[in-house]
Amino acid sequence: MSGPLRVLQVASEAFPLIKTGGLADVVGALPGALAAEGMEIRTLLPLYPAVRQRLERAEPLLELGELMGGPARLLAGAAAGLALFLLEADHLYDRPGGPYQGPDGADWPDNAQRFAALAWAARALGLGALAGWRPDVVHAHDWQAGLAPAYLALSGLPRPATVTTIHNLAFQGQFPASLLSELRLPASAFTIDGVEYWGAIGFLKAGLVYADRLTTVSPTYAREITTPAFGMGLDGLLRLRADRLTGIVNGIDERVWNPAADPALPAPFDADRLEGREACRQALVAELGLDPGAAPLFGVVTRLTWQKGTDLLLEALPHLLASGGALAMLGSGEPALEAAFREAARGHPGRIAVRFGYDERLAHRIFAGADAILVPSRFEPCGLTQLYALRYGAAPIVARVGGLADTVIDANEAALADGVATGFQFAPVTVEALIDALGRATALFRDRARWRVLQRRGMTRSLGWKARAPAYARLYRELLAERERGSAARR
Ligand code: ADP
Repeated sequence: MSGPLRVLQVASEAFPLIKTGGLADVVGALPGALAAEGMEIRTLLPLYPAVRQRLERAEPLLELGELMGGPARLLAGAAAGLALFLLEADHLYDRPGGPYQGPDGADWPDNAQRFAALAWAARALGLGALAGWRPDVVHAHDWQAGLAPAYLALSGLPRPATVTTIHNLAFQGQFPASLLSELRLPASAFTIDGVEYWGAIGFLKAGLVYADRLTTVSPTYAREITTPAFGMGLDGLLRLRADRLTGIVNGIDERVWNPAADPALPAPFDADRLEGREACRQALVAELGLDPGAAPLFGVVTRLTWQKGTDLLLEALPHLLASGGALAMLGSGEPALEAAFREAARGHPGRIAVRFGYDERLAHRIFAGADAILVPSRFEPCGLTQLYALRYGAAPIVARVGGLADTVIDANEAALADGVATGFQFAPVTVEALIDALGRATALFRDRARWRVLQRRGMTRSLGWKARAPAYARLYRELLAERERGSAARR
């Protein structure tokens, strides 16, 4: 192979252009991280209005003709340091609202066509439609890109290697079988070994069947999803392909998440200068109208959904308050959960403060000002908030699942004695176990010297992409070497 290894990543979001969750953070960070490994990553995104607004440059590259109901073309562009391919298909993407839902919160009725089109554009690039840039690997993220490996495999043409990454198995992208030909899928692919899933077309399932390699975002989640409890109906397929499945923990963007130079914070700090952190805590307390006592100020930054276990936290609140703790929450999601937390805050002014909506800067201030961050998720592929908490000196208190299990070292006696503890884990994911962890954290918080050791340990761990990128680089290289061997054997 000559020149750098070329990867086309295909995704529906990329930070800072468009983001609804951790997926965007990963897609936005991988290209920079892998450039350091001598690889060239370009990202294919739909051209949503939010993306168009942020483009630094864009030029037409390739006409794709009629695509899922209207004209489409590819643009080459750049924004925020990312080299981009943009799928311009105004009938699919040029509308107000989010990437998956309209302003009314309902899924776009044509999501099947919207993301099949994205995958079809990836197919074109993968098959060499651009003379000057042909990828060695097409890397599809989540169900929205799931058809890309399928289209490439089903083309029957020489194709690049393919990878599908699962960021969250809960979102699978299932659509009626009647769309098969409209989505340009051959009838022969509608089988249990193909795109068929419970009588429907499964986009993520297709990605899991047809990609050469599968990854997910932590080793523990990689194991969990091969079991019925976490496999969301796809555990059988994942067991079959377990030898192709790897877990690679997400990194964090250390330029965005750096408490020593964070424009959202009232004072800078790091592991050796914790005075600034105290100033951040005081400012947060004042901003939210809190009046915590000597017990920890617990923070939460989350989507309010069943997955995130905030209902367990709601049940544990009386204990948290009884032990003197206070709570600062930033969340958005299910109206019933919002209402319950709003009610709790009303009943305990000064001890519970809640803010609803999506507020990136307040999220930073909570990580910098809270003593501990609660992540009671029922399942968590990787989780980023516990990593931000570690970086910002807030002890994560996490359910022992998925990436939470892989990234937080529990403050048990042995870990404390060795000075390796960074937070608190609890299992099983129940109110009782959460209350126990809150109690352990509150007790350790009183012992300031030991608390500082735990805090500093978390802050100084390497959590950036530099530590993670080699695992992706190895995966791509292995995959290509494997294909080389395969084609040599066929010759
Ligand atoms: P998920 O992707 O399942 O929501 P992650 O922990 O992987 O969970 O990523 C969540 C990301 O979204 C983090 O960057 C977190 O800080 C951010 N986030 C979640 N809720 C909010 C909110 N209400 N306001 C601001 N940022 C939020």
